[in-house]
Amino acid sequence: KEILVEIKDVSKHFKVAGGVLKAVNNINLNIKKGETLGLVGESGCGKSTLSKVIMGIYPPTSGKIIYHGKKEMVVSKNNLFEYAKMAQIIFQDPYSSLDPRMTVGSIIEEGMIIHKMYDKKKRKERVFELLELVGLNAEHANRYPHEFSGGQRQRIGIARALAIEPEFIICDEPISALDVSIQAQIINLLYDLQKKLNLTYLFIAHDLNIVKYISDRIAVMYLGHIVELSTSDELYKNPLHPYTKALLSAVPVPDPKREAQKKRQMLEGDVTSPIDPKPGCPFAARCPYATDICTKDFPKPEIKAGHMVSCHHVEKINNLN
Ligand code: SF4
Ligand code: MG
Repeated sequence: KEILVEIKDVSKHFKVAGGVLKAVNNINLNIKKGETLGLVGESGCGKSTLSKVIMGIYPPTSGKIIYHGKKEMVVSKNNLFEYAKMAQIIFQDPYSSLDPRMTVGSIIEEGMIIHKMYDKKKRKERVFELLELVGLNAEHANRYPHEFSGGQRQRIGIARALAIEPEFIICDEPISALDVSIQAQIINLLYDLQKKLNLTYLFIAHDLNIVKYISDRIAVMYLGHIVELSTSDELYKNPLHPYTKALLSAVPVPDPKREAQKKRQMLEGDVTSPIDPKPGCPFAARCPYATDICTKDFPKPEIKAGHMVSCHHVEKINNLN
């Protein structure tokens, strides 16, 4: 498949009171046309910062984002307006991301006005079409966000993003704030829209369970680094990195309680601070397999058994060779 978004050696560091916060470090990722790339990690791992760099909201400290869509560009603050016509973001919180003083119709229409798309009559028609496309209806256009449930508001957020007719959408934890009963509906909607409109997604989540069904490939992020990347099927069947193993064992399963709890303990211990991090493997402080080399040398990403994985002891831990 062709590449749509190239994330090339991207780092994003922030100067803070205690030193330098290394939120994102030397990330290399290609997002392919038409795929869903899942990006998973605990809160604070840098996934939201990375998504803001990809959207051009934060300039990278080093590296670059190259976009190969309708227009080719290196994303920068000089072409953000043009880029926004092709790349949109759906936010985690459907409550705070919709202006409570605007009607749903004007929320959806706003982007089309900004980007000078269509005349007024056609825009109104598009608003109705979009509402129906996301499972709402035309009468909802004159109502206000507070009149809707969380799931419906997320549908409004999706319609707003689609109004610009983007090719690429970052879904930044779009279902984390919703009731579990609603989550599957929104995932299914996003999946159907992808097929219908030929969209490419970067789907961010803190829970591997959430991205399982929608992702073609999954990247696992820890403390600003991608530690493992593979196809979704492979990652669940055969996780190679100790952190991925721990994340998967923390996925709630209908196993006997004791077994599940025992496994979950693997992820206890503090997440290392991303401020002035030590050299070595980012997961060393919590990893049951850590040895001396892990605290000294950074494990370079390598291809093992079809996964990209970053761990000194990956062969031994997984009986590879
Ligand atoms: Fe664990 Fe060492 Fe592998 Fe890091 S490099 S995940 S500390 S075994
Ligand atoms: Mg976040």
